[in-house]
Amino acid sequence: MTSSARPLLNRRLAEFGTTIFAEMSALAVRTGAINLGQGFPDTDGPEQVREAAVRALRDGRGNQYPPGPGVPELRTAIAGHQQRRYGLEFDPDTEVLVTAGATEAIAASLLALVEPGDEVVALEPYYDSYAASIALAGGTRVPVTLRPHEGAFRLDLDELRDAITPRTRLLLLNTPHNPTGTVLTRAELTAVAELAVERDLLVVTDEVYEHLTYDDAEHVPLATLPGMRGRTVTIGSSGKTFSFTGWKVGWVTSAPELVTAVRSAKQFLTYVSAGPFQYAIAEALALPDSYFADFRASMTAKRDLLSAGLADAGFTVFRPRGTYFVTTDVRPLGFDDGFAFCRALPERCGVVAIPNAVFYDDRAAGAPFVRFAFCKKDEVLSEAVTRLKA
Ligand SMILES: *Cc1c(COP(=O)(O)O)cnc(C)c1O
Repeated sequence: MTSSARPLLNRRLAEFGTTIFAEMSALAVRTGAINLGQGFPDTDGPEQVREAAVRALRDGRGNQYPPGPGVPELRTAIAGHQQRRYGLEFDPDTEVLVTAGATEAIAASLLALVEPGDEVVALEPYYDSYAASIALAGGTRVPVTLRPHEGAFRLDLDELRDAITPRTRLLLLNTPHNPTGTVLTRAELTAVAELAVERDLLVVTDEVYEHLTYDDAEHVPLATLPGMRGRTVTIGSSGKTFSFTGWKVGWVTSAPELVTAVRSAKQFLTYVSAGPFQYAIAEALALPDSYFADFRASMTAKRDLLSAGLADAGFTVFRPRGTYFVTTDVRPLGFDDGFAFCRALPERCGVVAIPNAVFYDDRAAGAPFVRFAFCKKDEVLSEAVTRLKA
């Protein structure tokens, strides 16, 4: 232990203590509560994909360092997926990069593209790694707050426009959006695209929930809009789409110069990862459309089960149009602070949730909101609903 007065943790990271997920998961274990805090499924993805990973391991594929950009089979499968679903053509050799989950893709993109002092505009509430990655890159984060309006959290395009300054380098978008469940519409994304072109901005777009949209919500990849393919870094991940969050297989698709830049940072973070799993995810991406349709149908039912239960228990529910989270307002239950609510909930009801305020710079704007994950077995969700009503 150093005796110097200087703090050990550098000042770029000093504001980021341990995440709320650690505190709430510990609380769940101590109280035996149902953990609807952290967003990971409690059942694994398709057996055939698991078997593909076992086969790759046994056959000695990927047990040694795979190629830096990812194994060719996976890069080809990612390009095929973008082509089939969205009509986006990417060259697997120069326009696709495999990463250690979306988390590394986000970090590498920011480390590669942001100079110290650059401003990065991000939607608030934001996924928890965004703030830390912007800080590690030496950037300044400029949040644009999604505000509740008629049952959903909406982007105010004027606020977005006002947030852009001559120092803005990059927009960091996330749609479908965690934690609010908002799916940006084609009209909103078109306005964002026009702004990006007009102000000559790069955009990093986190689309890890691309397959989890509900009702008539449509996922529109920003890169499909006019002027965007050459300035957009699109991030995807197998974790959420195939329910293998532990495998950490993610990817970037973009123009060759941008992929080269992101790879320059990525090579010094992990260099490579998840060798055998890359082969398995290549097979997963080739699953028939029925897999994706069944997955969406099953998640829609879970969303409905938990949303209805929360509404019955007295919460105001923002019915999500994407992701596997539902955001609620706890004020009808007599609370105005989501932190206090979430700290008390495990003892009171045996359920763990996450206060959305942790995803805001403007903590007051997020204070009354609490997030529940519904990527859990139906019987677990039913039991949670029973407990919450009691
Ligand atoms: C889960 C999640 C990630 C992280 O994805 P990994 O592939 O597990 O690294 C990134 N962005 C959002 C919005 C997420 O919810």
